[in-house]
Amino acid sequence: MIRVSGLKKSFNNNEVLKDISFQVSEGETVAIIGPSGSGKSTLLRCLNYLERPDAGNIEVGEVSIDADKPKKAVINQLRMQTSMVFQHYNLFKNKTVLENITYPLTATKKYRRSEADTVGRKLLEQVGILDKQEAYPISLSGGQQQRVGIARALAVDPHAILFDEPTSSLDPEWVGEVLNVISDIAQKDKTMLIVTHEMNFARDIADRVIFMADGYIVEEGKPEDIFDNPQHERTRRFLSKYG
Ligand code: ATP
Ligand code: MG
Repeated sequence: MIRVSGLKKSFNNNEVLKDISFQVSEGETVAIIGPSGSGKSTLLRCLNYLERPDAGNIEVGEVSIDADKPKKAVINQLRMQTSMVFQHYNLFKNKTVLENITYPLTATKKYRRSEADTVGRKLLEQVGILDKQEAYPISLSGGQQQRVGIARALAVDPHAILFDEPTSSLDPEWVGEVLNVISDIAQKDKTMLIVTHEMNFARDIADRVIFMADGYIVEEGKPEDIFDNPQHERTRRFLSKYG
């Protein structure tokens, strides 16, 4: 479960998140859509304190954190419970595929090497690239690199996974395989928040869709309601660009 209430974030005088509140239930997949600059990435980054919110409360599973008195230990707990998958993969270039996945396990979860390798190989198998375990990221296709990114996010067994446009750096030919991997995870009842501009994917995979514009949640609802019967002019204008 993710519960966000009254979240605000400004950069200098630019108020990017203006009182954001929403919930994601246990096992639910929620897609966040909206125009460029509307605050989607900032929202995800605030959820694991890559950015520090100015106000509001964030709950993820058992962890609850208030922006006005965040404790370092609680920030660390929050980060353990929310894995991010980034648009540009952010893999360690000097580590092998397997090491990319096992690193968070040995470094922060204190797994022994052999235990971490077992978990890592299982995840690589799940995302379909076990044969690449000894390869370095540079030798992989974009789709394969992103599948490593997803396996790494799963490795620490977080409460929730936060995806920020996981397919927008990919050549069109690799998009499908990555979306398939994400769909598989969604079916396994992980709590997931996905920022995406793949509207068909959002419609297929999401239990609920949130439309953001100008730092606000304009509307949220079931995919068929948002895509087929949007209530707000702002949503209609945005969706009309996707035909
Ligand atoms: P996109 O669809 O293009 O990824 P977005 O909805 O993810 O857009 P954000 O990246 O959250 O939008 O940015 C929202 C606003 O916050 C933009 O005006 C951006 O310039 C500003 N912003 C984001 N990060 C910073 C930062 N570190 N410093 C200053 N301004 C920032
Ligand atoms: Mg963004």
